[in-house]
Amino acid sequence: MEDLKAAGNDAVHNGNYLAALDFYKQAIDAVEENKVDDLAALHSNCSFAHLKLGQSQEALVEADLVVALKTNWSKGYFRRGEAYFALKDYYNAERAYAKASELSPDDTSIKKKLTLTQEAMTGFYFRQLLPGRDFCKNASDFIEQQIFSSAVQMQNYIYLVGDAKTREAVVVDAAWDVKGIKAYAAGENINLVGAVVTHYHFDHTGGVPPPPFDAFGIKVPGIRELAVEDKLPVYVNKNDAKTLLTANEVPSDAIVELEDSAVITVGTIKLQFIHTPGHTPGSQCMYIQRSPQDMLLSGDTLFIGSCGRLDLPDCDTKAMYTSLQKKLAVLPDSTRVYPGHNYGGPYTSIGDEKKTGFLRPISEKEWLKRNRL
Ligand SMILES: [Zn+2]
Repeated sequence: MEDLKAAGNDAVHNGNYLAALDFYKQAIDAVEENKVDDLAALHSNCSFAHLKLGQSQEALVEADLVVALKTNWSKGYFRRGEAYFALKDYYNAERAYAKASELSPDDTSIKKKLTLTQEAMTGFYFRQLLPGRDFCKNASDFIEQQIFSSAVQMQNYIYLVGDAKTREAVVVDAAWDVKGIKAYAAGENINLVGAVVTHYHFDHTGGVPPPPFDAFGIKVPGIRELAVEDKLPVYVNKNDAKTLLTANEVPSDAIVELEDSAVITVGTIKLQFIHTPGHTPGSQCMYIQRSPQDMLLSGDTLFIGSCGRLDLPDCDTKAMYTSLQKKLAVLPDSTRVYPGHNYGGPYTSIGDEKKTGFLRPISEKEWLKRNRL
């Protein structure tokens, strides 16, 4: 049996899936019926070979046999997911991949397939990128090394949001490593069609860092490069637009000034902006209606258990009160909140922040007293 299995694997290696199937089926005939592990592995291999031959229905039959033999083996569910995905039955593919992922929670390749299936079902593309993990890796010189290590220290999240079917997305708060962000998008077959700015601070847009870091003559790559090299439109609230022109030197014809509640569409996906001044005059959040929960990209307005700094020259504590209490706290509790920095996790929710964070009900008077600078 081992010889036949090895011959099958060799055939797979050489791309000869018909021969591989033949060997695996002979091996199955040669295996004693009580050798469940061996049988399951062989049927799994048959499923794979059928899939490679474009025989998705046969691949599914073999995957079902694997699951019947070994109900707690993630591989069987993974094979089932692969077969359903090939059959474009995304509902059952998702269920199968989810079960596989539950049985092998550390397997990133299963998670990736699960994400792809959900994208195929919903048409929605969303990625949360972290410096050091998804970009700002492998600096090519000393300067870049300094920039990348600052990004890792600052923990800026960058987001890609768009249409999974048309493969178009906007990048939110692109800074630090434009090359790396573009490489990530290209690796996912995503075409960047715009750059969204939650607010003008350099760690979200690039450009010259504030003192004392401006002394080194280093410019952080960001929005300007995307506007100039890639001709991307830059979506910024009108109150923060001026800084992008002057400090970031973004060409004026690239800048799209947004009002409160402006909507842009990427493919079929609608992105709505909520003007939330306070951290800067033009801070804005991006709201996306999704099932089962809506999403809010909150920039530096709302973090897990806190809000953006209010001690910088352009900050407005009173405006922040209105932004938090009148504009964000009124969103559905289930809304998932994706902040501009990784301060304690990837996301929170409006409901959780209303219970334990900076959306807790508070009077304006009390808020101003607590945040007196
Ligand atoms: Zn900021």
